[in-house]
Amino acid sequence: PWLSDGEKQHLRRLEKKSARQRRTRHRGEPAWHRLARTYDQIARLRATAKRRAVDWQHQTTTELAGTFSVVVVEDLKVTNMVRSATGTVDNPGVNVAQKAGLNRSIAGEAWGRTVTLLEYKTSDRGGQVVKVPARGTSQTCHQCGHRDPAARDQIRYACANPACGWTGHADTNAAININNAVGMPVSGRGDLGTARSAKRQPPRAA
Ligand SMILES: [Zn+2]
Repeated sequence: PWLSDGEKQHLRRLEKKSARQRRTRHRGEPAWHRLARTYDQIARLRATAKRRAVDWQHQTTTELAGTFSVVVVEDLKVTNMVRSATGTVDNPGVNVAQKAGLNRSIAGEAWGRTVTLLEYKTSDRGGQVVKVPARGTSQTCHQCGHRDPAARDQIRYACANPACGWTGHADTNAAININNAVGMPVSGRGDLGTARSAKRQPPRAA
C-alpha cells in the first residue's frame, strides 16, 4: 500500500476526471490544458507511489543483505504475483484480466528490481542470492509434500492431507519450499516437501 487511503481516493477521482475531460470537449474551450493538468497530477501521485516502493525495497534489501549471507528467491517471472487480481472462487476479482495485466507488469518490474538490489548488496558483503525454480512451491505442502493446486486461496494455505492438515500463510509455505529446494534436482512430481529436514519448522507458524 504505497498510497494512503486519501491519496488512493484522490487518484481515483483524478482518473475519473481525466476520463470526463476526454469525453466532454466543447468547441472553443481550452480543455486540453485542463486535461494535461489532470494527467500531471496523476503522474505525480504515481511517482510518489513508486518512490515509496523503491525506498522500501532499498531498506528491505539492505536489511536482508546485512542479516543473511545467503538469500534464496524464486526464479520466477511473475506467475505468482497476480493472485490479488484473480481473487477466490467465493470472491472473484473484478476486471481480472485487466488488473492481472497491470499487476503483472508492476509486480514484474518491482520483483526484478528487488532481486537486482539483493544481488549486488549481498555480493558486496560476500554473500549470494540463490534462485530456485518456482515450480510447485506454492501448491505443495512444505510439511508433508502433498500437492494440491486448490489448497492455496489468496492468502492461506490449508493442506488437504488429513494426516497433516498444516494451515498457515501461503507465502510462508511457499518460502519454506523454496528454501528446501536449494540444491535439489528439479522435480516434476511435486514432492518438494519430502526431502525437508525434520528439524526445519516454519519461521513463525502463521
Ligand atoms: Zn501437509
